[in-house]
Amino acid sequence: MEDVIIIGTGCAGYTAAIYTARANMNPLMLTGTQPGGQLTTTTEVENFPGFPEGIMGPDLMMNMQKQAERFGTRIEYLNVEQVSKHADGHFEVKAGDKTLEAKTVIVATGAAPRHLGLDNEKELIGHGLTSCATCDGAFYRDVPVCVIGGGDSAAEEATFLTKFASKVYLIHRRDELRASRIMAERALANEKIEPVWNSVVTEYLTDDEGEMRAVKLKNVQDDTESELEVKCVFVAIGHVPNSGFLGDLVDTDDNGYIEQKGRGTATRTPGLFAAGDVADHVYRQAVTAAGQGCAAALEAERYLADQE
Ligand code: NAP
Repeated sequence: MEDVIIIGTGCAGYTAAIYTARANMNPLMLTGTQPGGQLTTTTEVENFPGFPEGIMGPDLMMNMQKQAERFGTRIEYLNVEQVSKHADGHFEVKAGDKTLEAKTVIVATGAAPRHLGLDNEKELIGHGLTSCATCDGAFYRDVPVCVIGGGDSAAEEATFLTKFASKVYLIHRRDELRASRIMAERALANEKIEPVWNSVVTEYLTDDEGEMRAVKLKNVQDDTESELEVKCVFVAIGHVPNSGFLGDLVDTDDNGYIEQKGRGTATRTPGLFAAGDVADHVYRQAVTAAGQGCAAALEAERYLADQE
């Protein structure tokens, strides 16, 4: 029986691992389908304290992994399908053909990119539809592309894509970006970026080979429709928390974010803690996720001490 299983290997998960490992809880981490979490798909992180010159997202995650492993954290590349609580208080964690047992569980599964929900979306992923500029931007050199969204992600992705694309349309449903001022100004000052205000994408249009050819746009103010030729669409309209596999062990809000009890990381199930983007729809920063990972570790340690 494990003292603690940590599900998810983003900032929250690794920080929880560093703290629980140093508290002799011998943590077992399960990575899920995206080891390292969202920062592995980003470029430079400029706002994580301690890196005055910034650090590349994947490097930051590699450092966190090394730090967690240095204190004995074990990492298994498993995707958790279900967690349940046994009558005697321990947890069963099902991942593939394995069932693991633990006294406490820290859920740090983060959130996955949201899509628009258009018809041919699934078939187009990898054929001109993506939510990761860092992963796919370099495939679209000297061609027009678009980014959908108005937040920091959209502004950051649009700016990054100007390294490759001939033109980057930034399609937003309002006439003002939600992004922080520094990132919005940087994007809008870039002459390769052209904002398309008050517009939503209603259809993805493909060529004979099934690759993205254009998007159909609707202006939300006057309902006029138009087509915009782009070879790739980068969707940056926020995220959906990865909490569905927990069933009724947790309460969630309408968007699926886990509700934490009191001021900490406890959930409605004693011994089950939630940290980072899976539970935080307000701050959603690497450093706040790390902070919550620390809190979850300390609370799990206290919970174990109270049980013994
Ligand atoms: P976000 O801030 O939630 O922004 C989502 C954007 O997508 C909004 O502009 C929203 O429009 C738009 N949107 C949502 N649903 C839509 C739909 N169905 N159709 C069209 N547009 C839609 O998400 P985010 O940009 O991913 O950022 C998430 C968090 O990460 C934020 O806290 C952000 O500050 C942080 N972040 C930080 C950095 C950095 O500092 N380096 C980089 C990336 C992200 P409305 O504006 O009209 O609501």
